[in-house]
Amino acid sequence: MASLYEIPIEKITGIGAKRARLYNKLGIASVGDLIRFYPRAYEDWSSVTDIFSAVPGDVCCVRATLDLPVTSRRVAGGKLLATTRISDETGFVKLAFFNNKYIESMLSQGCEYLFYGKLTDNSGVREMINPTFQKVGKEIPIRPIYSQVAGLSTKQIEAAVGHALKMLPEAVNDPLPESIRSRYGLIGLKEALLKIHFPASRDDVSLSRRRLIFEELLVLVLGLMSVKSMPEKQTSVVIGEDHTEEFLRLLPFKLTNAQRRAIKDCTADMMANSKAMNRLVQGDVGSGKTMVAAAVAFNCVKNGAQAAMMAPTEILARQHYENLLKLLAPAGVNVSLLTGSMTAKQKRETLSSLEAGETDLLVGTHSLISDSVVFHRLGVVITDEQHRFGVRQRATLLAKGCNPHLLVMSATPIPRTLALMIYGDLDISVIDELPPGREKVDTFFIDETIRQRAYGFLVKNIREGRQCYIVCPAVENTDTGLIGVEEYAQEISRTVFRDFRVGVLHGKMKPSEKDSVMNDFIDGNIDVLVSTTVIEVGVDVPNASVMLVENADRFGLSQLHQLRGRVGRGGYKSYCILISNTNGEDAKRRLSALCQTNDGFKIADEDLRMRGPGDFFGSRQHGLPELKIADLAENVDVLRDAQSAAKEITESYPDPECRELRGLRAEVRQLFGSVGTQLN
Ligand code: ADP
Ligand code: MG
Repeated sequence: MASLYEIPIEKITGIGAKRARLYNKLGIASVGDLIRFYPRAYEDWSSVTDIFSAVPGDVCCVRATLDLPVTSRRVAGGKLLATTRISDETGFVKLAFFNNKYIESMLSQGCEYLFYGKLTDNSGVREMINPTFQKVGKEIPIRPIYSQVAGLSTKQIEAAVGHALKMLPEAVNDPLPESIRSRYGLIGLKEALLKIHFPASRDDVSLSRRRLIFEELLVLVLGLMSVKSMPEKQTSVVIGEDHTEEFLRLLPFKLTNAQRRAIKDCTADMMANSKAMNRLVQGDVGSGKTMVAAAVAFNCVKNGAQAAMMAPTEILARQHYENLLKLLAPAGVNVSLLTGSMTAKQKRETLSSLEAGETDLLVGTHSLISDSVVFHRLGVVITDEQHRFGVRQRATLLAKGCNPHLLVMSATPIPRTLALMIYGDLDISVIDELPPGREKVDTFFIDETIRQRAYGFLVKNIREGRQCYIVCPAVENTDTGLIGVEEYAQEISRTVFRDFRVGVLHGKMKPSEKDSVMNDFIDGNIDVLVSTTVIEVGVDVPNASVMLVENADRFGLSQLHQLRGRVGRGGYKSYCILISNTNGEDAKRRLSALCQTNDGFKIADEDLRMRGPGDFFGSRQHGLPELKIADLAENVDVLRDAQSAAKEITESYPDPECRELRGLRAEVRQLFGSVGTQLN
């Protein structure tokens, strides 16, 4: 199997350079990739109905005979329309095919076929448009459906997969050791690959899926386990002296106990032994995680090493830079900023001072990862809002030092069990306390009927000198009823907010445009900022005191909680208004739950209970590699099995380099991409 990843897709009959590019778009470059490109669904041709019993509007499979020859003609718009009719003892159905010039040669009058597709009722006449069909007697009971791109149909992919599977060797090396397969009742790899693409029954689908999901999750777990073993290596950055007391004297306020505890955990990690720190600090929005980062950076710098702090957006990086500069510069710490939008000259200066060791603390965006960034002596890597960074990015930044310490800060209050799964490799500190005097953000859940009153409330706050956010779920209005920021902003700036300055912010804008809008808002030049969830990540505008969320039922609870954390950051009483016209009892209950508590951890648990972990895993923000078939939210049981299997494997094969694990090792590398090479 492994060698099939070295055979380019062009080697398959019927695939030339042009079609190969279409396959590339689907992430398929080799024959191996194609074999691992699993169907996204199946057409079930095994439950056949008669025409009379078929329900209009449903997808169905009927067995019928062609009554009439196929006739083709051009219709409006130049389309080619082919029509014919099929019947069985119970009725008849009109068939229409668009733009298929071969259809006449594929269907013959008097022959019996299975037709599969959506049946519609057009004023009493039953119709199927572009159904798929197979000749009776030669039918495949369950047909795979593949994700397609323009120019490459699922049928073409099916044919190519058929060719690819023939290239599998007689005996495929199975990465799963026999002992694991028999213990967990898993079929062999070759059987699974044949059945996942061309199952003979529903059972084949579930057997092969289970086997492949298990394998993928096992590879994921093993990969994460080897990330965990990485920092066991010696660190070159030993922190000899604890400077926390000195740090505390720099602060304009007293740290909370939770902040102190987190700092203590970190210093203990860095001082205890020669092992590098590898810690996740989790704290609700506004719990003051930045101060923990600052203390860690300070300790590192005072012990003669450099610190790097990476933030997910340019605005946030700049905000951290300004705050840390103000705080730490008086104590002799040289703080610099590196972002993509700086001029080449500014970047050059920053980089050379970094390499010379003059810069102590470098704050920046993803640009910190680039090759040109060279540290003199990197002691600690801090990533803020970690869920936006991949495992790989984290590893790249770490590789710039000699096993530096790692501190990851996350505001997504992920329940502990899930955190251990995602960040299985990290120790965790929780900041479960907010700085004193922080008032609860009063949250209200309303429907359309009192929208005008809500607007009136925003206006009142603006007149008192405050600023407001309005969050919409989309950039442009959608057919499905989602409100888009652009039209919305135009509308309100002509009406209710005509006397005020309305700004627009969304992810499709250029980074420089986003920054300029955000800076205008920070500087108070915008009164109402209409935005998508791009403002979710930790920006601090203390003067903003009201947030209104449109289509609130479309957001996850944890996400709404994050959003709500954008207000209530100054001394002003703050409010969050959730607008939703939903009739769903579930959605109403979720939104009311949010009005009752401000505790992010409780909300996360609630979210998990009501919606399953999909919210956390759905958005690919967790930095795990992309999975082909397993779904962390759905396949929790298989995950549990895979976790115990991983443990058994590491126990029964203490030497990770042994022959029996060769296949699994190769797959870990495949799944984790270039990080994989550092994994084992
Ligand atoms: P987050 O955990 O969301 O990153 P921040 O670190 O941005 O929170 O802190 C939020 C605000 O609270 C900042 O303005 C910060 O200066 C302030 N802050 C942090 N710790 C304390 C404290 N112990 N007492 C008072 N204010 C604090
Ligand atoms: Mg923060």
